[in-house]
Amino acid sequence: MNNAVLGLVAALTLCPLVALAKEPQAQPEPRWSLAIHGGAGTLDPAQMTPERRAEYEAALQAALDAGRAVLAAGGSAMEAVQAAILPMEDSPLFNAGRGAVFTWDETNELDASIMDGRDRSAGAVAGVKTVKNPILLADRVRTDSEHVFMIGSGAESFAVSKGFEVTPPEYFASEARLKSLERMKADKLSAIDVDTKFGTVGAVAMDTQGNLAAGTSTGGMTGKRWGRVGDAPMIGAGTYADNRACAVSATGWGEYFIRVGVAHEICARLRMAGEPGAQAIADSVMADVEALGGDGGVILITPAGEALYSFNTTGMYRGRATSEGVNEVAIFGGEERASATPDH
Ligand code: ASP
Repeated sequence: MNNAVLGLVAALTLCPLVALAKEPQAQPEPRWSLAIHGGAGTLDPAQMTPERRAEYEAALQAALDAGRAVLAAGGSAMEAVQAAILPMEDSPLFNAGRGAVFTWDETNELDASIMDGRDRSAGAVAGVKTVKNPILLADRVRTDSEHVFMIGSGAESFAVSKGFEVTPPEYFASEARLKSLERMKADKLSAIDVDTKFGTVGAVAMDTQGNLAAGTSTGGMTGKRWGRVGDAPMIGAGTYADNRACAVSATGWGEYFIRVGVAHEICARLRMAGEPGAQAIADSVMADVEALGGDGGVILITPAGEALYSFNTTGMYRGRATSEGVNEVAIFGGEERASATPDH
């Protein structure tokens, strides 16, 4: 074969490869997923006026939109979780930040925690009274200290040292929550009687890199005293994230969630059993809470981006959004219009 023939043979052999290289391969859209909650509880559809419902749905949608914007732009799950929680902390409709429940001593004491599934770094604060957005302080504990959990005045000093503004305690107070405390005291009721709805807020996310994160923020339970702290700021109880398993945020009767170690229990079982059973695992851990006498709910995201809920109350303020176009908010049980399970 002379050189010209050789060249021709080479060209013909390479031709399909060149054609292949030129034809752009359709890349799958990077997937992301987000779920939020604004508390679970004994919610009675008859008590919910259309106006009230619209108010809650708008607040949930605003939180969902804030988180979604971060994820759709390629932001991290950690950023999305904080973006979704901030508007709920700022809204008096939820028991977190502004609108937090009152303690027995008529103060508002705030708890929050956040966890990054990439490296399981975590930050948490409890009993803070002067930090507008406790979720941001929890994250600062994670990033700017060698600790995981700070409480009370120590956490507040840390906040000031990191440049957080001191918010006047009156900012958090709302008339409706004060009435609940007064009713509790006057009628000798328990927190469960007056807090028919746990208004804790939380978010879990998977970003386009496949990283998971979870965050939770609360005012706790009405009439709490003696420095009572619930599950929300406890890593493993109210919040947990691990890229190998899931991201969970809880709401409910905190004492039971602590005793079951709900968020870590769900993630640990998922890590052992594998992902397809995620809903059954979450339901089984919530059944365990119920068997002890507790109630509430969880939101979770799996490493495949499944956004799930499980609750043993009549309702849970919740929402989820995914890159596949799921976008829904719901309040009572069984209201979901679409499944947020992506096609595998
Ligand atoms: N879990 C919270 C607590 O026990 C209350 C809530 O979910 O609203 O402090």
